[in-house]
Amino acid sequence: MEISSSQQRRVRVTWRQRLARMQGVPVTFDMGPYEAPLAEVARFGGGIERLSDREIETRARAFREQGTASLESIRAEFFALAREASRRVLGMTPFDEQVLAALALDAGHIVEMQTGEGKTLAAVMPAALRALAGQGAHVLTFNDYLARRDAEWMGPVYTMLGLSVGFVQEGMTPEDRRRAYLANLTYVTAKEAGFDHLRDLLAMDPQGLVHRPLHFALVDEADSLLIDEARVPLVIAGSVGRETSSAPRLAALVASLAPGVHFDADEYGRDVELTEAGFEQVERALGAGSLHDAQNYRLLTEINCALHAHALLRRDVDYIVRNGRIGVVDEFTGRVVADRHWPDGLQAALEAKEGLERQADGRILGSITLQHFLQGYPRLCGMTGTAQTAAPELRDLYGLDVVVIPTHKPMIRIDRPDVVFTHREAKERAAVGEIQRAHASGRPVLVGTLTIEESERVAARLRDTGVACEILNAKNDAMEARIVARAGAPGAVTISTNMAGRGTDIRLGGEHEEEHAQVAALGGLYVIGTNRHESRRVDLQLRGRAGRQGDPGESRFFASLEDELLVRYGIETLIAGRVVTAKRDEPFDHPIVRAEMARAQRIVEGQNLEIRKTLWRYASAIEDQRREVMTIRQAILRGDDVPEIWQREPERRRALVEEAGEDAVQRAERAVMLFAIDRAWRDHLALAADLREGIHLVALGGRDPLRHFTEETTAAFRRMEEAIDNVALDLLKDVRVKDGRIALDEIGIRGPSSTWTYLVNDDPFRNQIGMMLTGPGRTTIATYAAALLGPLLLLWGVVDRVFRKRPGRRGDPFGR
Ligand code: ADP
Repeated sequence: MEISSSQQRRVRVTWRQRLARMQGVPVTFDMGPYEAPLAEVARFGGGIERLSDREIETRARAFREQGTASLESIRAEFFALAREASRRVLGMTPFDEQVLAALALDAGHIVEMQTGEGKTLAAVMPAALRALAGQGAHVLTFNDYLARRDAEWMGPVYTMLGLSVGFVQEGMTPEDRRRAYLANLTYVTAKEAGFDHLRDLLAMDPQGLVHRPLHFALVDEADSLLIDEARVPLVIAGSVGRETSSAPRLAALVASLAPGVHFDADEYGRDVELTEAGFEQVERALGAGSLHDAQNYRLLTEINCALHAHALLRRDVDYIVRNGRIGVVDEFTGRVVADRHWPDGLQAALEAKEGLERQADGRILGSITLQHFLQGYPRLCGMTGTAQTAAPELRDLYGLDVVVIPTHKPMIRIDRPDVVFTHREAKERAAVGEIQRAHASGRPVLVGTLTIEESERVAARLRDTGVACEILNAKNDAMEARIVARAGAPGAVTISTNMAGRGTDIRLGGEHEEEHAQVAALGGLYVIGTNRHESRRVDLQLRGRAGRQGDPGESRFFASLEDELLVRYGIETLIAGRVVTAKRDEPFDHPIVRAEMARAQRIVEGQNLEIRKTLWRYASAIEDQRREVMTIRQAILRGDDVPEIWQREPERRRALVEEAGEDAVQRAERAVMLFAIDRAWRDHLALAADLREGIHLVALGGRDPLRHFTEETTAAFRRMEEAIDNVALDLLKDVRVKDGRIALDEIGIRGPSSTWTYLVNDDPFRNQIGMMLTGPGRTTIATYAAALLGPLLLLWGVVDRVFRKRPGRRGDPFGR
């Protein structure tokens, strides 16, 4: 039995493996390297089965006490122990495929495992093994709910192995967090772990730290986190009182402008700018002289933000308004992301546009991108249902390779080819017809739409035809669990944005297990996509909702030449010109169409990669500086580095020591140094943020924005050390001793009165900012596209549309 299944695995992989190797893609389907270790785990398993629970615990303790030196040598036996523990306490014995995944994870790879194959359990073996070292092992989950669920679900296995497990939730106290991180294993979202890291960097004494040094992380939904979210900066901010904002006035001003007269948006909805007439109008209204004068630099940036918020950000597509707040809708997950903001100026402009109260005015105290945070783990591995198409990027950004694990039972979902129409209206009518037909047969249908708006439109059409359906989008996410639980029931129709992608487990029969067979007999869940998404991984996640664990299922996408994906990149005109246009109401099936659609996705993915790399370069310029400063800061905090700046004023220092004692003076000096560092760093970040917001203008001025940015921030960084010393010395003069103690409070040495954290949505105009950041020399993008595209003419058509550079209309905005 065993042997035949492993033989099967080998047979199934060879041709794909060869193909992947030929294409130079860092993906392997080859389970060969893991077969021997797997057999070894099975061999140990035979003996372990006969052990009593006590004996298993004793064996595990021996491994724990043995220390970290030889984790590799004990891996097989330890995995076998974990497997047996799981059987006893959870009633699930990890399948061979799960052990293969565990082995690949332990080898430091990104593992691709289909939905429903049991990633949660597979992760236990490698995570527990690394936790033996006693330095903490983090399982980074996709959301807060899963952090808790998985920790509690898998907890008994760890307990049997003598390992403690904790989890972190949003809103937990620092003490609870510290306790969770002190456990052998911690389930936490990357976001929370990252915020804790940022908070640690503001701690004023070592007892305030919650993290231990980072040791090992296993990332769930790895592609989402490592790629889609990678460049999202985590931000910690502190209150500094309210400033009066000009945003409401500017919002009213841009609302009074006429599109096409005072401003022009580009045809892809990525960028908008004032026309000559617009400039004149705005300058007249503001009465502040020419907007291109150097002293109006801030104002111009603010107007740009107001204009972008007004003309490009769409309510119910890009954001929703709920409880008087802006909720940013994430394009990959279709969800409102908690605590996500747009860059400050834009967020203010958007709140003003919607007439909302300004939520938070604060200073950024610290910031790190998820990618930089994750790279802080010396060992990193991950798992996801969709890694293959992201493999080049995972290799590029993290040096990680992808290993594809075969499914436990053969996958029998049928993925139908796309049905393509010329017109959107015809497409939607056809999709609704298809849903009706499937629904009439009693089969559950899951409909995936691109936007909230579209989900509501399709639902309305369906209801018109008498089909009852549930809507799952960011506006009613509170009902998510209930809707998902019923989505597999006979006759259920669920319309969803990308929310029904990752992590949603749709069981056939819904809440009634006994209806599983009935639904399976009807063909299982039918997934219908009404649009192709920019990222193939999102399409695949949607398809993956059907056909879990060997269940039957079917998937199909509907598309039209009017879809955003094709229109935005001008691909619809290229296709339309090359195929015989069919009648409006009939789908047309032409191989070129399918090829071009796939091509569009690849172009966009390539472009996104390029933009991510560029953003990465910006973030890295600051990141290197951050590491440098924070290493020094934390050394001072822990007492490993003693600041000696006050030695430069020996008289003053001696007087203080006489009054308060050497210890107190050292403590005060340390606090003053930390304070000075934090303040300097905060100012540095503010400068960087200002530079970033104005980058648009630098690019329009025809200069290389990245170079400009790097030069300015490097120069500022060089001045920082001196500034820190000066602040610390200045404070020495003001320090007073009161009742024999050094009174630091009175000279303003204290942390911010309150702090809060958020994520910055770095992609407000679908990469418009990214495009600007890449600056005038966009050859790299063009080169990348060229590598993908065949016909040169097509290439130039697309590249020209996507990357066309606008002239710097009014000369250098800096007046240089
Ligand atoms: P994934 O995250 O890969 O989509 P989950 O970890 O949520 O999958 O597991 C899917 C389902 O499979 C769960 O209900 C789980 O109980 C079940 N499962 C996983 N592994 C096993 C196993 N070895 N034996 C029996 N059931 C399993």
